[in-house]
Amino acid sequence: MSIADRAPAHIRAISPYQPGRPIEEVAREQGLSADTIIKLASNENPLGMSEAAREAIFRTVTDSARYPDGNGFALKTALCRRYGVQMENLILGNGSNDLLEIAADAFLTPGAATVYSQYSFAVYALATQAAGATGIVIPAQDYGHNLDAMLAAIDANTRIVFLANPNNPTGTFLHGAALEQFIERVPRDVLVILDEAYTEYLADEQRYDSIGWLSRFPHLLVLRTFSKAYGLAGLRVGYGIGAPDVVDLMNRVRQPFNVSTLALAAAEAALGDEAFLRASAELNRRGMAQYTQAFARLGLRWMPSCGNFLTVEVGDAAAVNAALLRQGVIVRPIANYGLPEWLRISIGTEAENAACIAALERALHR
Ligand SMILES: *Cc1c(COP(=O)(O)O)cnc(C)c1O
Repeated sequence: MSIADRAPAHIRAISPYQPGRPIEEVAREQGLSADTIIKLASNENPLGMSEAAREAIFRTVTDSARYPDGNGFALKTALCRRYGVQMENLILGNGSNDLLEIAADAFLTPGAATVYSQYSFAVYALATQAAGATGIVIPAQDYGHNLDAMLAAIDANTRIVFLANPNNPTGTFLHGAALEQFIERVPRDVLVILDEAYTEYLADEQRYDSIGWLSRFPHLLVLRTFSKAYGLAGLRVGYGIGAPDVVDLMNRVRQPFNVSTLALAAAEAALGDEAFLRASAELNRRGMAQYTQAFARLGLRWMPSCGNFLTVEVGDAAAVNAALLRQGVIVRPIANYGLPEWLRISIGTEAENAACIAALERALHR
């Protein structure tokens, strides 16, 4: 009997998260120079980060010998002003991934259940399994959430319902009114985690006020991140907004210093740079059109997406992906999501998109 054999069965059953391949690793493997590689695999912001965030990082780097403010006072104050919420509604995370795990640690036990959709973000299953709970996976409807079926699956064991809007990796979107009705119907002792990692990319007419719903929905936790539109993926910072009792319990199980000094400073500065967000969303809209026109021309089927990525059906996606890697283009195969014929492509700069489209065309016509 080894130590590994002694690990709980629910931990041994976990299949690890499969991240986008790092640029350096693909460069080494393919014998290419790292600066020729185009990475469109992790939904990162192709514009990088706001200049204000960069300056804040340089200003703060000299404080790195000290622990960060474990309470994140300055960033929370900025978020309170921005969203009209109170300090006690806010929790900061080492990315919103951290907050998904913290919520699972705070509210799940072995025997408890979570409910989430087929093809929704992989971390919902991981956080559930790590807590020894059972994930109830609801078959998707048109690759998105089937809210009626999710509601019907909630029972006395359910502690958390996970929703991603827009969803990753499919890009599907639920309208605010449908979401609001859903949350209204969920029992008040079940936490609804509304993961809005891509909300900054929504068109004006798609926007809805989930944070405003908190006054009526004490069982709602809204998660946002600085990793995507704000361009701070490498720093790891996200936030949750929820009822004070939910946030209080989560704060008890998080690491005391879970967000670094640089991340706190950069996020605070990034939050104020509306122009950068607008430019990022606009670049994304143009890139989305660039891809959908190319897919139509190539006769490829894609999932209409509201995020900063697109999922496209290419047949033998593993082979197409290998051919893209040989050309120095990293995208994301999503066989692990049960979509072995599809690739998820993050939207890059116009030049990156053009290079990716050309490489895809060569990969398909080999
Ligand atoms: C990227 C992503 C996250 C997590 O991002 P962090 O970098 O941990 O903040 C959460 N949810 C969804 C749906 C995502 O795509």
